[in-house]
Formats: sequence, structure tokens, C-alpha cells
Amino acid sequence: MSQQKPKTQAATELMSKGAILLRETCPRCGGLQLKYKGRVLCVNEDDLSEATKIESVAATDTLGNLRELIIGKVQEASSMLAAERDLDRQIKLADLLRKYVELLKETKEEKKEEPKISK
Ligand SMILES: [Zn+2]
Repeated sequence: MSQQKPKTQAATELMSKGAILLRETCPRCGGLQLKYKGRVLCVNEDDLSEATKIESVAATDTLGNLRELIIGKVQEASSMLAAERDLDRQIKLADLLRKYVELLKETKEEKKEEPKISK
């Protein structure tokens, strides 16, 4: 009964690194899905420990990771907004989206390095 890879542990680890647990379950196996760095991973079918390795390589680009996270949140909020009929919640979602977009702009500006011509 003991498996070599504890899936839930890998999932928890990935979530501590910014993966989002999706509401929608996997269309193929009905398992839990995580969204990580813009990718949708199935807890049952995908190798989550593999995804953790990919992250550790890309971890040098912290702002890039943050941007990925925000873009994922923007997508999430937009699909929620599209399905939302309650006006108050729409306003809240729109406000949230605006904040995400602002954050995206800020991280972009910080990341951008303007070459200075000193002459
Ligand atoms: Zn699946």
C-alpha cells in the first residue's frame, strides 16, 4: 500500500511555492488540478516533483515568477468575472483585476533595464 511518491506531499510542496489549487478537477481522471507557472498540472497524472525541479531552476527570476503568478490570478479573476451576475461582486472582481494589472505594470518597470548611454 505504500507508494514511492506521496502525491499529496508533492502537491503541498508545489502550493507552498505558489501553485494554485484549481476548482475544476481533471477532465480525464477527476483528480485535483494545480496551476503552476501558467501550467495546469493534474495531481494524479503529472509528475509534480518534476515541476518543482523546473521551478528551482527558474527561481532566480523572482519577479518573473511573481508575474506568472499574477497573470494566473488575472486569468482566474477574469473567468470569475465572466461568470458573475452579481453586480457587487463584479465591482469587487473588476477592482481586483485592476490591482493585478497595476502590479504587473510595476513588476515590468522594475525588471526593465534601460541601457544608459553616457555621452
Ligand atoms: Zn488527471
